[in-house]
Amino acid sequence: MKFKYVIVGAGLAGLTLAERIANVLGEKVLVIEKRNHIGGNVYDSYNKDGILIHNYGPHIFHTNDREVYMYLSQFTEWNDFWHRVLTYVDGNLIPMPISVETINKLYNLNLNCFQVEEFLKEQAEDIKEVKTSRDVALSKVGRDIYEKIFENYTKKQWGVDPAELDTSVISRIPIRLNRDTRYFADKYQGMPKHGYTKMCENMAASKNIKILLNTDYKEIIDQIEYETLIYTGATDEFYNYKYGKLAYRSIRFQFETYDMEEFQEAPVVNYPNDYDYTRITEFKKLTWQKHHKTTICKEFPCSEGEPYYPFPTKENKEQFALYQEEMKKETNVIFLGRLAEYRYYNMDGVVRRALDVFNQLK
Ligand code: FAD
Repeated sequence: MKFKYVIVGAGLAGLTLAERIANVLGEKVLVIEKRNHIGGNVYDSYNKDGILIHNYGPHIFHTNDREVYMYLSQFTEWNDFWHRVLTYVDGNLIPMPISVETINKLYNLNLNCFQVEEFLKEQAEDIKEVKTSRDVALSKVGRDIYEKIFENYTKKQWGVDPAELDTSVISRIPIRLNRDTRYFADKYQGMPKHGYTKMCENMAASKNIKILLNTDYKEIIDQIEYETLIYTGATDEFYNYKYGKLAYRSIRFQFETYDMEEFQEAPVVNYPNDYDYTRITEFKKLTWQKHHKTTICKEFPCSEGEPYYPFPTKENKEQFALYQEEMKKETNVIFLGRLAEYRYYNMDGVVRRALDVFNQLK
């Protein structure tokens, strides 16, 4: 078999490049995917009760990148969904991320925006050198909010104390000094009207794209002639783990269907201090599907299983740097995506990265 381009992985990174190569360059491209479906972690499907679920956890599209939004809009329409998250603390459901409403509800106050700013300044601890996720939280919101909202959630999510994680984990969580209770403030937000899988199928519709499912690329790569390999799988696997296995955090998803219209008040409810799961998602609240039953998903973080989140510690970054040195030496392999680059990407980020790589290819 002969292809100019071979892509490993049919996730958003791989499919964006495949689509561009096929439709803009007019070249044939082979995509090799080890799972039995396309879409990678954004894959969604109808369960046996006919409810559309996100098989690898809830995925909410949001971006400020107009080009990425317009690019994906060629393959799907969107519903005008705005994400909302509630957190269960001391018997109350409070909005996340932290906003004026959160503080007022948490402490039974009626402060305005300026007063909340003052309140948070009084709570914040003076930390000379902010080195860990714990330092970030304490220096932004103080000990009480840290303990009520962040500490145990982070421990559950990562299996270690926030003091052992670098600043990136908690820095991502915004604090709003206004009454905006949307989870994301991005300009473009929504759910693909007919689901992510349908969007991915549309991306891969060109006759120039051949997709091989259920196939680990290592099984067949020696039998294929190619000029460029675009690799979106795990880097440690690519190099046969020569510098050891990179650490990831995984999640066990537990899906439950109930004979009721509605399960909870918001699409996602976080449980920082109660139960072993971190959060519950109710899919109908994301997709706006009408159904007399409802399916929810509980997330149990764990260390074994599918690699989802790169473990953000200094040692792990140093270990990945060894692989990066090897990657630089490759002349006909392009590494991209969350696994190949050992970094957390949102969907818009990975599509942006793929479009940039394509522009360089051109
Ligand atoms: P992937 O989707 O992982 O695709 C890589 C593909 O490569 C996989 O299909 C894999 O099977 C295949 N592969 C790997 N190795 C091989 C091999 N040896 N041979 C053949 N194929 C191989 N982003 C958002 O913007 N909003 C969200 O709400 C959001 N929620 C998320 C929730 C969770 C639980 C997780 C884990 C991620 C979430 N994301 C979210 C991030 C989003 O999933 C990623 O940005 C996106 O999936 C990255 O695409 P990718 O192509 O890099 O990786």
